[in-house]
Amino acid sequence: MVRTLVTAIVCAAMSAAPTAQRGKKVYVSVDLEGISGVNADDQTSAGQPEYGRARKLMAEDANAAIRGAFEGGATDVLVNDSHGSQRNLLPEDLDPRARLITHSFKRHGMMEGLDETFDAVIFVGYHAKADAPRGLFAHTGSGVVRDLQINGRSVGEGGMNALLAAWYGVPVVVVSGDDVAVAEVTESVPAIRGVVVKRAINVRAAELKPLQAARREIQEAARDGVQGAKRTAPQRQGPFRVQMRYRNFTFPEVATAFREIEPVAPDAVAFTRDTMPEAYRLIRVLYRFINPD
Ligand SMILES: [Zn+2]
Repeated sequence: MVRTLVTAIVCAAMSAAPTAQRGKKVYVSVDLEGISGVNADDQTSAGQPEYGRARKLMAEDANAAIRGAFEGGATDVLVNDSHGSQRNLLPEDLDPRARLITHSFKRHGMMEGLDETFDAVIFVGYHAKADAPRGLFAHTGSGVVRDLQINGRSVGEGGMNALLAAWYGVPVVVVSGDDVAVAEVTESVPAIRGVVVKRAINVRAAELKPLQAARREIQEAARDGVQGAKRTAPQRQGPFRVQMRYRNFTFPEVATAFREIEPVAPDAVAFTRDTMPEAYRLIRVLYRFINPD
C-alpha cells in the first residue's frame, strides 16, 4: 500500500518535471548593420579599417541579449552569426554560455539551426529592407535585391525570418536595430519588443544611443521577452509564392535557367514552394549563390 503510494507520487513527480522545470531554449540571430555604435560602411566587412571595432560592438549587443535570455529563464542559447561572411563574431568575445553558428554556407542563412524545439527568437542588429528611404544601410539579403515579396507582401530580412520562425511555431520576441528597422519588423510581428539603438537620419547618417543604455535596453527586452515567450501553433499554410525584383538584369537571366523560376519582368522572377524552409532556401540561392559577375 505504502509502496504503491510512493510509486504513484514518484511517477506523478517525474511526469510533471519536464514541463515544470524545463528551461527555455532561445535562438539569437545577430546582424551587424543595426548594432549599437555601428554607423559607417567601412565597418561592415573584413579588411576595412573600422571592421575590428564593429565586430567587437556586435559581440557586446549579442552578449546583452544572451544575458537577458538567461535572466528570463533560458538554459540554452544558440547564437547565429547573420551578417555577410557570417564569420564576424569571435567565440572568445561571446558569453561563454552560448553556442555559436558561423560561416555563410548554410541553407537557412540568418536562421540556420532554428527548429521547433526553440521557445523564443531574438533579432539583434537588424536593418531596414531594400529601398526603405531612410533606413541606415537599408538592403534585403544582398545589394542585388530591389524588393522581395512573399505571398504578395514586401518583406525585409526581419519579415522573411519571422515567417520561418512562425513556420516552426517559435515567437520572435525582440528586435534591435535603427528606428526604421524596428518599425518594419514590428509590422510583421506586432507583439515584438523593439529596441531602437540609433535613429536613422538617412541611409548613411545616424544618431547613436549611448552604448551602455542601448545594451541595457537589449538585455531588459530579452529578459522580459524570453520570460513571457509562449510557443504558438506552427503556421504552415502554404503554398508560399515568392517574387524577387533585382537591381540588374543578369541575376534574373541566370535564375530562369531553372524551370520552376518564372520570369515575370526583365528584372524580376517568381516561384512557388509548399513549405517556408524550402522557399527560404531558394530565396537565398537566388540572391547569394548565383553570381553572374
Ligand atoms: Zn548584415
